Parts: sequence; structure tokens; C-alpha cells
Amino acid sequence: MPYLVKPEHRAEAVTAPVPVNESLPRTCIIGAGASGITAAKALYLAGVPFDWFESGSAIGGNWLFDNPNGLSACYETLEINTSCPRMAFSDFPMPADYPPYARHDQVHDYFENYIDHFGFRHTITFNTTVEEVTRDGDHSWLVRSSGPDGERVGEYQAVLVANGHHWDRRWPEPIYPGSFDGKQIHAHDYRSGDQLAGRDLVVVGAGNSAMDIAVEGAHRAKSVTLSIRRGQWVLKKFLLGRPSDQVVLPGWMPWWVTALRLRIGAMASGSLRKYGLPRPPHRPGQSHPVQSDQIRARIAEGRIAVRPGIERLDGDGVVFVDGTRAKADLIVWATGYTVTFPFLAPSLIAATDNELPLWKRTVHPDLPGLFFIGLVQPVGAVMPLAEAQGAWVAETLSGRYAPPPSSEIREQMATEHERNKRQFYASPRHTMEVDFDRYLWHLARERRRGQKRAGSQVGAASNHTLSGNKP
Ligand SMILES: Cc1cc2nc3c(=O)[nH]c(=O)nc-3n(C[C@H](O)[C@H](O)[C@H](O)COP(=O)(O)OP(=O)(O)OC[C@H]3O[C@@H](n4cnc5c(N)ncnc54)[C@H](O)[C@@H]3O)c2cc1C
Repeated sequence: MPYLVKPEHRAEAVTAPVPVNESLPRTCIIGAGASGITAAKALYLAGVPFDWFESGSAIGGNWLFDNPNGLSACYETLEINTSCPRMAFSDFPMPADYPPYARHDQVHDYFENYIDHFGFRHTITFNTTVEEVTRDGDHSWLVRSSGPDGERVGEYQAVLVANGHHWDRRWPEPIYPGSFDGKQIHAHDYRSGDQLAGRDLVVVGAGNSAMDIAVEGAHRAKSVTLSIRRGQWVLKKFLLGRPSDQVVLPGWMPWWVTALRLRIGAMASGSLRKYGLPRPPHRPGQSHPVQSDQIRARIAEGRIAVRPGIERLDGDGVVFVDGTRAKADLIVWATGYTVTFPFLAPSLIAATDNELPLWKRTVHPDLPGLFFIGLVQPVGAVMPLAEAQGAWVAETLSGRYAPPPSSEIREQMATEHERNKRQFYASPRHTMEVDFDRYLWHLARERRRGQKRAGSQVGAASNHTLSGNKP
């Protein structure tokens, strides 16, 4: 069945406290954004004992505008780029009066209501930053955190890393020659059109934020130039009046069939070259989707000029590789993010060029008890995938799931890696790319298999190595 969350999927509210089973592995969750929230809910309902640390004073991570944690890239006009039924958690539909693509504040309210509905707000420790996570022998982790009461070190059998991957700004490399007299910001620091008002603006990039900022600039800036080094297929959010992501094929289909959906979407969205947007050197479906309903119209009106990559910075302007020059006093670098884990020693985890091989983008094959939630870049929404990952980890920790032998895990990882390489072009933004429906389908199948394995190995659940349980 395609993933579309409907009103009838809403689960009963949890009103009574869920008892904690202290015999299960003690667990630490890092971060209370969308990924941490849904993982905490799964652990809470499974009775897994856990501590949950959030460095900020609020939940929602990226989806809280001006989040006091200083890590949110949310801007005033930000809406989700997948429609509500495709972004909602499977058992908690978005309110019926939300627009097809919810605004950031609505998404944040939705997370608040999710926590209250499932009754686990009391499990969050705010204003507490995880500073260091180290191994303590083969089966334990030491987590050093700092909060209002100072530092503490806790011992855990499992750690769920949900610190987000859209906060560490990636700047262009190598740095362009020349110098620039104006202001330069990263898209992460863009909040509202006020920052663009009256400016000669150059936006660098071809992702969703670049499109949004260029479109906003078309209304507020004196001039807008969009510099695109590599073309991207720009899809429209609505096709024939319907959210375009709701035409879905089952996840068991081969990837090239599901990629067809994006090809059809790209064709139906209209020409790129007619509007001066460069034709991508890859096919639709081979890159992370970029969506904008307005970019074509703003270019056609002459409010946005499209240029290729930058050759050099030039005082009060920018020179592009085609020899043209644009006057500029503000550059917005929409050049993406680096995946970073400041609390894990690079000798343990180094995501060089955003590459971190994980089994089903969740399980570290060599570090029992270390799990990653939401460290995935789907062709679709992150939230339902983080939810499935959290539920999987909760099953693992509570002994309801048993993994296959590690040789099989490695085989699957290698196959997935090869498939990823075939489907998406090589780029730091595609190292974690998965197809939404395909990923959910495969993970659901693995969970069913592992539940059978766990059922047939009575007592064996505490023997497997993934959970970090002591054998
Ligand atoms: C502009 C923009 C638009 C996006 N649009 C979409 C979209 O439409 N749909 C979609 O699915 N995804 C979108 N994304 C991706 C986005 O990453 C996810 O939507 C979502 O925010 C991921 O949630 P998360 O919990 O993994 O990370 P975050 O939302 O970043 O939350 C991480 C949390 O961890 C906390 N934290 C970090 N380090 C520590 C520490 N050491 N100790 C304690 N706490 C810590 C942070 O304070 C934060 O609250 C977008 C991203 C950006 C930048």
C-alpha cells in the first residue's frame, strides 16, 4: 500500500504512564527534533528505559523558527516539500484543516501535539547538550552531557543519535578567487525577505532553499541572479491540481520503475531550458528532488536571471564562467550541509564527504548499540522513515527483533550501496539518499523477518549483538 496517512489511522491517545522495564537495555537519545521525537515515542511505548537530551529549550529542531538552539534553518516562507499525508507519522495524521503542504509553524505544532497525544513529554531533558559519546568495553557507552546542573556521565547499552544533519553549513570548495565587498550568508542563516530587500542578490545553488530564496528575492530584492553550476530537474508541487507526490507506486517495485514517477513529474512540470534553467546532465530520479511552483514564472517575468557557476568574486559583483558579470551586494550560498557528530571521536565515526555506511541507514555494523535516526535523505519526507527506524530499534532493544548474521548484514549493505550508486549521481548530497517507499517497504520486510527470528529463538533476544545487550 502506498504511504498516505489518513484520519482513520490516528492511534488512541496514551493517557496512563507506560511502565518502564528496567531489565531492557538502558538507552540515551540525542536530540528532540522530528527524528528524536518519534524514536522516543517508540522506546517509551515499548517500556525501554531511556534518557533523552535536547540541547535547546524546545522540541522540533529544524521546524522551530528561530529555535533558541541556533541550529534551525527555518525561514518565514518555509513549507514542507512533501504533502501532509506523505510526511505525517503513520499513526498521527496531520489536521484536516492544514493546507496540502504545511507551513513550518504548523509542522512544529504537529510535533507538539504528537508528544502530548502519546504522553511522553516528561521524558525530555532540555538545555542539555551531549558533549561526548565513548565506548566503554564492547557493550556499553558512556555519554557525557552538560546542562543547567553541570556535567554528568551516564552509562548506556544503546545510544540513538538524532542530532540532525542540516545545521553544519557547507561552503563552496575551493573558495572562489577574488574578493567581495558585500555581505555573504549561508542559506542556513536566511530567515526572511527583509534580508533581501533592496539588494543586488546572487543566490548560489540549485536545491530547494536556493529556489525559495531566489523566488522571495524576486519580490524584495533590487535584482536577483541565480547561479547554477549543475542543472536540476525542478518539479512542481501540484500537478492537475493535486499534490504531485501522491501518485505513488508500491515500494517493492524496482527502483527504475519508481524513478519513472519522477520522470513523468519532471516532464509534466514543464520545460527548463525555455526559462534559461540549464538542462541537468542526469535523468529525473537520479538526484534529490527539487521543487518550486514559482521559479519558472519569476524567470519568465525577468525578475530572476539564471547564470552558470561562479568564476570569481569581483568587488561589487560576481563573474560567472560564461564571462558574464552580475552586480551584487549580497551572496546567499545555498550550498548544502556537512554531516557532523561533534560528540563522537573521528576515530569512531568519520562521515568524510558525508559518507557513513550504515545498515538500512540506521545500524552501525561494527559498533553494537549505536543507532542513527533520521540520518537519511529521502526522495520524500524524513519523518516516516525516522519513525520506522525508531520502531525497529525499539523492537531490537526489547528483544522482539533479532538481526540476521553479520555476514548477511554486510552483504545487504554492499548491495544497497551499489544500487544507490546506480540510481543517484555521485555527490555529497546523495550519500544518504533513499527512495521513500522502497525504503519503508524493505525495512518493514526486515522487521517482519527479524520478529520471526526473535520468536523462534526463545531467550536469544538478549544474546544478539546489535542491541548492545551484554551476552
Ligand atoms: C530548509 C530545510 C527544509 C527542509 N524541508 C524538509 C521537508 O519538507 N521534508 C522533510 O522531510 N525534510 C525536510 N528537511 C530536512 C530536515 O532535516 C528534516 O525535516 C528534520 O528536521 C530532521 O529532523 P531531525 O530530528 O533529524 O533533525 P533536526 O530537526 O535538526 O533536530 C535535531 C535536534 O537535535 C538537537 N541536538 C543536536 N546536537 C545535540 C547534542 N549534542 N545534544 C543534544 N541535542 C542535540 C538539536 O538541538 C535539534 O533539536 C528540510 C531541511 C531544511 C534545512
